[in-house]
Amino acid sequence: MPIYEYKCSKCAAEFEKLVFSSTKVQCPNCGSAEVRKKLSTFGMSGLANPAAESSSSKCSSCSKSSCASCH
Ligand SMILES: [Zn+2]
Repeated sequence: MPIYEYKCSKCAAEFEKLVFSSTKVQCPNCGSAEVRKKLSTFGMSGLANPAAESSSSKCSSCSKSSCASCH
């Protein structure tokens, strides 16, 4: 059975859900149906890692999330 990752378009909550063909997916946080399906967690470890996304917002020349010299 496929488990998909979703991200709510309204409150940006991320969650996983078992999805069947007739399943309506709603955000467990705010109840919105405006959710985006992300890639399956299977076989995509690393690429779907939230830590990898957050690292892209960091400075390219240092590991800090904020520094005066890189911005
Ligand atoms: Zn939500």
